[in-house]
Amino acid sequence: MLDEIFQRSEDAFHHWKTFRVSQRAEILKSLHQIVYKEKDQISEVISNATGKPKIEALTSEVIPVLDLLLYFTKKAPRILKEKTRPLHLLMQKKSIISYEPYGTVLIVSPWNYPLSIPMGDIVLALLAGNVVLLKPSEVTEPVSQLIQDLFSRSDVPKDVVQVIFGGGDVGQKLVSSERIHKISFTGSTATGQKILEAAAKNITPSTMELGGKDAAIVLKDAPLQKTIEGIVWGAFMNAGQTCASIQRVYVQRDSVQRFVEGVVAQTQTLKLETDVGAITLPQQLERYESQLEDAVRKGAKILCGGQKEERNGRPFFQPTVLVNCTDDMEIVKTETFGPMLPILMFDTEEEVIGRVNRSPYGLCASIWTKNKTKAIQMAHQIQAGTVTINDAVFTHALCETPWGGTKKSGIGRAHGEEGLKSFCQVKHINYDRIGLKPFWWYPYTRQSLDIAGELADMVGKPTAWGRFKAMLRFLVVYLFK
Ligand code: NDP
Repeated sequence: MLDEIFQRSEDAFHHWKTFRVSQRAEILKSLHQIVYKEKDQISEVISNATGKPKIEALTSEVIPVLDLLLYFTKKAPRILKEKTRPLHLLMQKKSIISYEPYGTVLIVSPWNYPLSIPMGDIVLALLAGNVVLLKPSEVTEPVSQLIQDLFSRSDVPKDVVQVIFGGGDVGQKLVSSERIHKISFTGSTATGQKILEAAAKNITPSTMELGGKDAAIVLKDAPLQKTIEGIVWGAFMNAGQTCASIQRVYVQRDSVQRFVEGVVAQTQTLKLETDVGAITLPQQLERYESQLEDAVRKGAKILCGGQKEERNGRPFFQPTVLVNCTDDMEIVKTETFGPMLPILMFDTEEEVIGRVNRSPYGLCASIWTKNKTKAIQMAHQIQAGTVTINDAVFTHALCETPWGGTKKSGIGRAHGEEGLKSFCQVKHINYDRIGLKPFWWYPYTRQSLDIAGELADMVGKPTAWGRFKAMLRFLVVYLFK
């Protein structure tokens, strides 16, 4: 069965790759209009499949997809335009840089944002001229059906996007195939490691968007009320099931008491279902309980939440705030992926940067302060793909900017110009502007050695004047001897 799927992709690729980027963009605009007209029904399907509030389905899934389609159908032709690159040394030659598709791109996506994560990759892969096999999570199958249906009703030709239903075993078979020319994976670090092992066998280029343990750093001059509201949202939106959720907060000693009181008061206003959605994958409850147990055993105190609940047949977990937390607790070290907010204390900026960077993850971090200059300086020292100041989580929805992590949070970047180009093979074409025989070809003579000596001076002399004189001598020896 997979053979037939690969064959259909390869046949579709022969046709799709012949389109110009602007033609592909025009075709994808049809999808933009379908998504816009059906935004309410789509949000409903996402909300039912995941248990997230409908407003979150609209703001974090549907709107980012509309914006991505709008932005990239306009910008991709310019970003992927073939460019000439003048050479500063070998000026008799010229280079062309072009961006070419890989062929069949496999996108493996998780259940937490079952529309916006795969669509972010699919749209960019298609604009770059690839065809796509999507292996979404089987946990959110109704949304995957919807993606298939949206493409089938758009102007995108048949088989340019194929959705493959099935679990991790199907994913494993796909990533191991040499008929996949590029993998874009979003999911846990553990699965990412398995995929990289399989990809290594065929040297399949792979982008990895993996787990996180994002820290928020609250400096003593942080705007208190805004910080409290931002951090509570960053920790509990999507019930904390976001790779970039705030999962640990470091608060400067002087502000701890006021911050904790405010966070607890704000958290207690949140209502399950309306503000904090369901736990999409019920197996996660065990991890929440064991992390809480470990934290309490090591001295943490739960100030609110801490219990699971069932509503309308779905599992929920109360948004939970903990204090007296320390760096050795599982809830501070390991990805939680749930509505949990452990609060820690720090004294100096240097100390907190060290503690934040000690994590094996490096997806995002946030700094909360009124001092933008200081925050930007600190941001440069934090090992993370994205650092936000006085905000968190939302940057996945920005289509212009790159998204991705450092360390065990991933390899490569999605979104932005960087994400679009990650679906391309960069080709370099070089040709002669004037028909000089390269001096480095055979035969190796006394003259070629002299020319090489002048070239070494041209790139090695310490002053511009010295390098200029060497260039004149180089031209004389090369052209006239
Ligand atoms: P998983 O790693 O469990 O699954 C991700 C996808 O991989 C699913 O489609 C899954 O299929 C599939 N899969 C599972 N095993 C294999 C395998 N051996 N080979 C190929 N594919 C496989 O992640 P979750 O779905 O549980 O998502 C949560 C994780 O994703 C968290 O760690 C979170 O931090 C991370 N994430 C990272 C993001 C980022 O941008 N950095 C964004 C969103 C989430 P199936 O589900 O059908 O079993």
